[in-house]
Amino acid sequence: MSISSGDPLALLNGITSGQRRALARAISFCENSPDESRPLISALYRSKRLGRSKVVGITGSPGVGKSTLTGFLIRHLRTRGYSVGVILIDPSSPFTGGALLGDRIRMSESNTDTGVFIRSMGSRGHLGGLSLATQDTVSLLDAFGFDYILIETVGIGQAETEIVKTADLTVVVAVPGLGDEIQIIKAGVMEIGDIFVVNKADKDGAEKVITEINMMLDMAPGVPGKDLPRPPVLRCIANRDQGVSELLTAVDERWLQLDISDILLVRRRERIWQAVNESLHYSLMLNLRPYLSVPSRHSLVERIRLGESSPFEEAQGLLHQKFF
Ligand code: GDP
Repeated sequence: MSISSGDPLALLNGITSGQRRALARAISFCENSPDESRPLISALYRSKRLGRSKVVGITGSPGVGKSTLTGFLIRHLRTRGYSVGVILIDPSSPFTGGALLGDRIRMSESNTDTGVFIRSMGSRGHLGGLSLATQDTVSLLDAFGFDYILIETVGIGQAETEIVKTADLTVVVAVPGLGDEIQIIKAGVMEIGDIFVVNKADKDGAEKVITEINMMLDMAPGVPGKDLPRPPVLRCIANRDQGVSELLTAVDERWLQLDISDILLVRRRERIWQAVNESLHYSLMLNLRPYLSVPSRHSLVERIRLGESSPFEEAQGLLHQKFF
């Protein structure tokens, strides 16, 4: 039976009854039509099937070995009897990066395994913004019933930090020789990292990076009022599958610590609030679209440029025109 994208209930039923095609179609539907797909997402929230997957973010500069790690993490999860959904994001390279990474993993043994579902996403072409598309995909994979959801994102800048907020916990991957420890401080990833991995530990300088990250973590303030152990720093040689099983064990331990200390709940609440904010922003833009045509936008910008008005006043004016 084929399921049309326009029928949210049929799609939802397909997803909750384990139909992978319905899942794939629903993800594309949300990516391509952030507007029309809202009833589906709303039905998902009301299905009470959300919040059961462990959502793990994996971030780090290009080439540090994230895909290799992810590939072996999938294998270890499957060996332990868990199903896993994977989202690969490459904000810098919408057409090649994410898709290539996806292909690379898909080429491995995972492609015939029904306990694994892999989806690549580029940043452009997401009308509702990448973090909305990511959040929708996480919700769909969660409702489908995957035990784990891995979100792999390239880079450790602002955009990635935002996407990573979609995860319950985040693994930050660094390697020797890239100056990652400096980047980590600069990008403020210290706060988002729950586990630090120094990959390519077969290369010179790995111990130095481990020591430096440990020192930074020792100096970092803990979470006020919460009894949470300091994030661990692990060493891996991903391409030889060394340290990956230990990483998975560390993920489970950390997840439990976050759960017990209520930080998981705080993060999930924050995620919901972020979704409300994004929906609000999106709804506003949608409602205001008729007032934002190119000619009216041009005269608005010119008024501000010529000192006759200000961005705040124009925003207020638009809201008044539409709602009051
Ligand atoms: P990503 O861009 O972060 O996803 O990195 P990849 O997983 O594509 O890995 C980049 C390259 O590093 C590939 O050629 C891997 O085979 C290699 N690689 C991954 N892990 C290790 C490791 O632990 N040691 C060494 N020497 N190479 C590795």
